[in-house]
Amino acid sequence: MEKRSENKEPLKIYIHTFGCQMNENDSERIAGALIDQGAEFSPSPEESDLIIINTCAVREKSEEKLYSLLGRLESIKKRKGLKIAVVGCVAQLYRSRLIEKKPFIDFVIGPDNYREMKHIIADHFKEKIIATSWSQEWHEVSHPQIFRESHISAYVTIMEGCNNFCSYCIVPFTRGREKYRPMENIIGEVKYLAGKGYKETQLLGQNVNSYKDPETGMGFSGLLRKVNSIDGIEWIRFVTSHPKNFTIDIAKVMKESRKACHQLHLPVQSGSSSVLKAMNREYTREEYLEKISILRDLMPDISLSTDIIVGFPGETGKDYQETLSLLEKVRFSNIFSFRYSPRPLTAASLKKETVPFDQKKKRLIELQNYQKKLQLELNKSFLGRVIKVLCLGKSKKDPSLYSGRNEGYQVVNFKSEDNVIGHFVDVRIDSCGPYSLIGEVTQ
Ligand code: SF4
Repeated sequence: MEKRSENKEPLKIYIHTFGCQMNENDSERIAGALIDQGAEFSPSPEESDLIIINTCAVREKSEEKLYSLLGRLESIKKRKGLKIAVVGCVAQLYRSRLIEKKPFIDFVIGPDNYREMKHIIADHFKEKIIATSWSQEWHEVSHPQIFRESHISAYVTIMEGCNNFCSYCIVPFTRGREKYRPMENIIGEVKYLAGKGYKETQLLGQNVNSYKDPETGMGFSGLLRKVNSIDGIEWIRFVTSHPKNFTIDIAKVMKESRKACHQLHLPVQSGSSSVLKAMNREYTREEYLEKISILRDLMPDISLSTDIIVGFPGETGKDYQETLSLLEKVRFSNIFSFRYSPRPLTAASLKKETVPFDQKKKRLIELQNYQKKLQLELNKSFLGRVIKVLCLGKSKKDPSLYSGRNEGYQVVNFKSEDNVIGHFVDVRIDSCGPYSLIGEVTQ
């Protein structure tokens, strides 16, 4: 995109993001690059010149949501001059087939081609473009250019891609093999954020624990130690960890490092060793539970969350019960649970589905209700306690309350007489639900 001259209206962009934190961070990078070229945000798709849809292909449901959004945008698109870009994992997966299916799409841009977006749009704004090439090289994005909505908590990408090939997962096909960001660039970005007053950083990647500095070979624990030593940043989180790559050394660094939150998202996917084997997860139920036990010995206050898939091909009633019993044993503070859906190109998509749709649905609802009960029990244990909270803004549901996260990444909504957005506060918890804690700032 060319810088627009002073007498020309700036290009108005509207970005819709599906999926995980990686996608959110990618949207921040895309927005930053385009704003740097003179674009402005549009409050609605109707008022924009360019609609960018950043997509997720991990589950069938997220793809369905994309097509439903595209259906709504088709009529807006008829307005002269409006362009639609589909970017991210669905773009990478379907490439030209996406335009064959929805001819009103103008640009199809894969996750390894965002840096070219501004040029693609500048050079070919009138042509349809498909850019889905791969490179094993790390392409650095200038961090001052990343457009972050929050001025309190920031994502920092440390690696991209995945080498694991879990049998149900499309990520290695849409994001490619692992590539690691040079450590000095990560440190440079975190220092920059600290200088801007950010209080928290979340280190991001599909498989962060396999991180290795391309220059020195230093691994994730070394990175965590270095980030911990940066003045200004108070809390460090990271996501996503694979149980296979999460080592005791990393747990020890979490315990030693003052700023590493005692919080970990460790996706288990199933509580049954035979299902885990079929998923190619490379750990057993027992090995997972052993890691949890070591973590809890080191950090008794650690807050754990996980991902669960129900209805994987071959999952029996007994396997499913083992997943429920794992939830009971670990007592996660939060879970993300899904019905299995076959994804193109994956090994599991070649397996015969053995759990009927209604059964998957029933298992998912039952599992979510069970977890809801466990979470409520856990949250009740906070009643009367005073906890440290980073205030991130106002509560969306009740603007009379402030909202933030505690060290365990639980949502805390609270009353405060002062505006405490961007500050750490002590909150006394006096009520709770399964998904949040509620309280008041202590004097
Ligand atoms: S670790 Fe497995 S589930 Fe996670 S991104 Fe890689 S292949 Fe997908």
